[in-house]
Amino acid sequence: MAIRLARGARLVVATHNPGKVPEIAALLEGRFNLVSAGELNLAEPDETESTFVGNAVLKARAAAEASGLIAIADDSGLSVAALGGDPGIYSARWAGPTKDFALAMAEVETKWRATGSDDPHCWFTSALAVSWPGGPVVAVEGQVHGALTFPARGARGFGYDPIFTPEGSALTFGEMEPSAKDAISHRARAFEKLKAALF
Ligand code: IMP
Repeated sequence: MAIRLARGARLVVATHNPGKVPEIAALLEGRFNLVSAGELNLAEPDETESTFVGNAVLKARAAAEASGLIAIADDSGLSVAALGGDPGIYSARWAGPTKDFALAMAEVETKWRATGSDDPHCWFTSALAVSWPGGPVVAVEGQVHGALTFPARGARGFGYDPIFTPEGSALTFGEMEPSAKDAISHRARAFEKLKAALF
């Protein structure tokens, strides 16, 4: 029998970032009753896996086992081909404890220039995992490919958006209308796959 997520189910979002819950609620079309791991005072597991999917599964499993609820977790980041996929799963960490993405983007530029490569290929990945307590886990991944762009352009979005120009676009994610980014983003693609698998 196919696994399905029943409308109205209570889900725990495996995050301690309060901003993530409304964002995920909207991407799930308001179908579920969401509570965050932070609100339930669940411990935050260390992200010890080496892939986006591995870390999303680890977080979803931990939240499902600790709460007894179905849990959803995400993990995302920017990968640069010439840097062997870095910053990748370390994307948030490159911004340091003060979450300074000007610093993180400068780090990407310095490291990319130091390679001597002129290959600007990079991509965003969003992994999502849904875990049932004591039960199965469903994981999906969405990507959007593009080019590193220096100097950074645009004040919209967040994180590495100002240095990412998606394929087929003249604008960086930092310059695009949020709706235009949302139509093609890694996150939107991952949620489409999740909905196809579980709704
Ligand atoms: P996470 O919250 O641990 O998944 O960390 C993801 C990190 O990847 C964020 O802090 C951002 O730096 C970066 N990231 C993920 N998605 C995007 C995006 O859509 N635009 C810009 N940066 C992103």
